[in-house]
Amino acid sequence: MPSAQERAKQLAQEMRKAVKEAKEAEARAKRLGEEVMQALAEAKAEAESLADVVEYPPGRYECKSCRQPLLFMEPTRELTPCENCGGTEFVGHEPRVLKVTPPPPKKYPAGMYECAGCGSRVALAEGVDKLTPCDICGIAVLRAPQS
Ligand SMILES: [Zn+2]
Ligand SMILES: [Zn+2]
Repeated sequence: MPSAQERAKQLAQEMRKAVKEAKEAEARAKRLGEEVMQALAEAKAEAESLADVVEYPPGRYECKSCRQPLLFMEPTRELTPCENCGGTEFVGHEPRVLKVTPPPPKKYPAGMYECAGCGSRVALAEGVDKLTPCDICGIAVLRAPQS
């Protein structure tokens, strides 16, 4: 049985180690948080670029470089290259820009949240309608961080 003093020494050492580890974990979480925000911004730009889909109406087209006629029977999102010269530019009809209806926004958009109970930061990769309880303390109250 170690003496109380030895125990205290050991505990003090463990505590120092735990504090050091916590600091490292905090720095890592901060870095990951920044990366998450970056990825979320990219995901948003990606979703916006998807909103511009063009569609070529069916009909007669002509290759821009060799004037080879081309018939499309169905609306198409991408004209196949010219059979004659391989050109990919055609004249004949203007493509229609299709408005892709985005899904209805979620109650809680993707982003960074924090726990109202313990202050832990939680990153949501996707928007949700219902927030899940905090992983750390289990309190089901997350909120947008005040910043
Ligand atoms: Zn051609
Ligand atoms: Zn919490």
